[in-house]
Amino acid sequence: DRPSNGRGEEQFIVTAPNVVYSEDAITSSYVYRTTSVSKTPTGQLVAKPTETHFDFKVERKIPKVGLMLVGWGGNNGSTVTAGILANRKKLSWATREGVQKANYYGSVIMSSTVKLGNDALTGDEVNVPFHKLLPMIHPDDLVIGGWDISSMNLADAMDRAQVLEPTLKTMIRKEMENMKPLKSIYYPDFIASNQGDRADNVLDGSAACQSHLEKIRTDIRDFKQSKDLDRVIVLWTANTERYADIIAGVNDTADNILAAIQGGHSEISPSSVFAVACILEGVPFINGSPQNTFVPGVISLAERHNSYIGGDDFKSGQTKMKSALVDFLISAGIKLTSIASYNHLGNNDGKNLAEQKQFRSKEISKSNVVDDMVAANHILYAKDEHPDHTVVIKYMPAVGDHKRALDEYYGELFLGGRQIISIFNVCEDSLLASPLIIDLALVTEMMTRITWKHSTDEKFKNFHPVLSILSFMLKAPLTPPGTPVVNALAKQRNALCNIFRACVGLQPESDMTLEHKLF
Ligand code: NAD
Repeated sequence: DRPSNGRGEEQFIVTAPNVVYSEDAITSSYVYRTTSVSKTPTGQLVAKPTETHFDFKVERKIPKVGLMLVGWGGNNGSTVTAGILANRKKLSWATREGVQKANYYGSVIMSSTVKLGNDALTGDEVNVPFHKLLPMIHPDDLVIGGWDISSMNLADAMDRAQVLEPTLKTMIRKEMENMKPLKSIYYPDFIASNQGDRADNVLDGSAACQSHLEKIRTDIRDFKQSKDLDRVIVLWTANTERYADIIAGVNDTADNILAAIQGGHSEISPSSVFAVACILEGVPFINGSPQNTFVPGVISLAERHNSYIGGDDFKSGQTKMKSALVDFLISAGIKLTSIASYNHLGNNDGKNLAEQKQFRSKEISKSNVVDDMVAANHILYAKDEHPDHTVVIKYMPAVGDHKRALDEYYGELFLGGRQIISIFNVCEDSLLASPLIIDLALVTEMMTRITWKHSTDEKFKNFHPVLSILSFMLKAPLTPPGTPVVNALAKQRNALCNIFRACVGLQPESDMTLEHKLF
């Protein structure tokens, strides 16, 4: 199922007058149907179906893509690199439970399916892999590189991470040994002081400056050229930073942040410098950690350069469960009254989060994930009423990467009944996060090949630079300024799936299945 001629081998084609396949592109005319609601003077709601006519264009040629990770030598960075190598080489290795084959489990794009339609003869559902909806790149073909403030090669880094089986590590050790992170920028004030002892691979200077910005831009260009890549994507999987203060005249506008970097202002974080470098290079930048990398000045700069950004914070375990379970409870009409979430973990992420300012970034990111679901139900919740919600994270070195997440959901049932749901979730954190890194890269790359226009316009253009379509993979989804945040997991998946369907001229899957219900 790999590209043979530089073009995706589509598993299906759409035959419809509104969909045209050419050598280079798939073009579809699409009617987007929504409902516009207004209020009469007496307060009655009036719902009016609306139609907007769009054209979408998808480039079919599969580019050669590089993925540069900031924090490459960390648990996630080393695990995702090893995982891609293992898949590329189609490896199998012995474990105490038997032989394990490389796979992409946990990747919504690589390991989940979507319903295409119903079989013309039998009426049965026909499902296709998500990554076959559009001509997407394959993760095996990603060329990986990146930066780390620790100089350790990737083979030693995967030992340090203590995530993978020794049998697998032996098989990929040689190649991993040759991978060495580029020197990075390190401003000690932004990550926990307990990280200082691994920072032996840093550029001179401990505050933002023009030469750091230029160096990161050069690194990206050199990587692209030396690996003969068509496109590069940069993703932050480095330590969680503290929040940066938003200061008028410093990081509030595009011009101010550029000037503040040049002037060496101490409130510009390393992740913001990386984001600015990527925007100026026209390279997508995704933030997998919770800090406010995307200060207003960075967002404006991305808009000015029409360059893709996405974030924040991988939605891997506890929050993913929360954004599914709370959606289920509230949409079932059960009044959730409190959520208590405890975590303990023993990896370097946990160590970094042991300091208050870095924990605070994570706490903020984990806190707002139920807001939209609560606000949508005015039967259960009065205006501004929220369930109590608390988040605790503790560093417990002994458990390593096997993070524990304990959650208690407390709700109110019919006639004052009470419901308590307790969840105890244990799994390797980096094995959850690595497939999300892959999904973020794959979807982001796909978005660079999708353009749209109103049917009456002449020119196709990009989506908004803030890629909210990535929100399924992210805990605190960044959305275009002034637009609502959707946290509910099913809605996020539907948005991703249905936008991809629209690109090949297919209506959203409504799940009405009227063909099976009428008599
Ligand atoms: P880690 O500590 O193992 O790896 C982070 C790496 O970043 C380290 O190797 C460190 O040396 C490097 N680093 C720190 N500052 C840097 C800089 N300025 N430039 C380049 N490298 C730098 O952590 P991890 O477990 O791989 O997680 C990475 C990030 O992803 C963390 O911020 C974490 O909160 C976030 N995250 C992880 C998960 C998950 O693993 N399930 C979920 C959500 C978010």
